[in-house]
Amino acid sequence: MGRRASHRRLRRPGPWLATALLLVGGCVAPLEPTTTDPHPEQTLASRLNLAARNKDPGAFMANFANPDGYRLGARWYRVMTSAGASVEVPPGGSMLEVSWKLPGDDEEASNVLYVALGTQAGRPVITGLRTSPQVPLWTLEMLDVTAASHGTLLSSGLTADERARLGQQLDAAAALVARADVVPEGIEWDGGIVVERPRTSADFVVVTGLNAAETGGVAACGMGTPRITLSPQLTDEWLEPVLLHESVHAAVESPCSSAGEHWAVEGLAEWVSQEAYPVMADENRALVRSHLAASGVPYDLPDAIDSTTDYALAAVAVGQVFAHLGHDDAVELVDRFARTDAATKAERDQVRTWYLDELTRRAATP
Ligand SMILES: [Zn+2]
Repeated sequence: MGRRASHRRLRRPGPWLATALLLVGGCVAPLEPTTTDPHPEQTLASRLNLAARNKDPGAFMANFANPDGYRLGARWYRVMTSAGASVEVPPGGSMLEVSWKLPGDDEEASNVLYVALGTQAGRPVITGLRTSPQVPLWTLEMLDVTAASHGTLLSSGLTADERARLGQQLDAAAALVARADVVPEGIEWDGGIVVERPRTSADFVVVTGLNAAETGGVAACGMGTPRITLSPQLTDEWLEPVLLHESVHAAVESPCSSAGEHWAVEGLAEWVSQEAYPVMADENRALVRSHLAASGVPYDLPDAIDSTTDYALAAVAVGQVFAHLGHDDAVELVDRFARTDAATKAERDQVRTWYLDELTRRAATP
């Protein structure tokens, strides 16, 4: 199944950070060219799991060498001992797969790491990471794992007070999603979410591939379960509305599906958020108004969702589905548009008519 990241743009576009996505490549020189161990990854996985189980940092760090390796090892020890992660060797060679399931995860999250190996005193050691297609935050920053009532916060560089406050905001977002009652039948959401908050914008870019100045947050499914990553540049004013938007994505698992129409995916998240936060509702109303003044009423439902105006228009479309159908029927229909290709042409024509009628009404209202 294909996966896409669902994100929400912030208001103020900023310059692209000139940060390459290859920061973790590092400089890794093997200490000795070869190891006599025919299965070094398997040996390392067993040793890492045992040392983490015994909470033995010395035995854990003995599996790492070189400054890059030591830095990685310290961060790795943290996620294995604070978040219950474990290591195994996936089929195919010089990789290690780190898996963990936190409160708030629906499924196990796993990252495949391409490790650079060397040999020290006759045993295999990890000297760093080779460039990986997917870079988990915990390899870049020393994560603090904070338990919330409705999930888990993974952060770096925040004070205890800041973590407690963000944990409360996480709980509030999860509670608002539950209250909005928009999770369709067939999705097993346990009411929790997992939120990552990188310390630096550069690490946000590496993990998400998106500009931290323009993107407030991302919900992605790349690890096998939806998790949310928040931009460290989010302002207080926008943190809660953006977190709620992303929490809707995570709860309804929209990032885990590649089918469907973007207006339904983004419109639902945006609509739930603007129903809860006047700052979001006010801005979206103004964006739609200026769009209608400049471009008139469009001909169809929004296609690509890129600008903040696109989000606002998508929320109008989803809002009209809820205005015309009973709540449960609206949830079911929006979900069919969002995650499947199963909505009929007649259903699409109906939603399009409601949407264009609403925009026509707004365009005629002074
Ligand atoms: Zn979104």
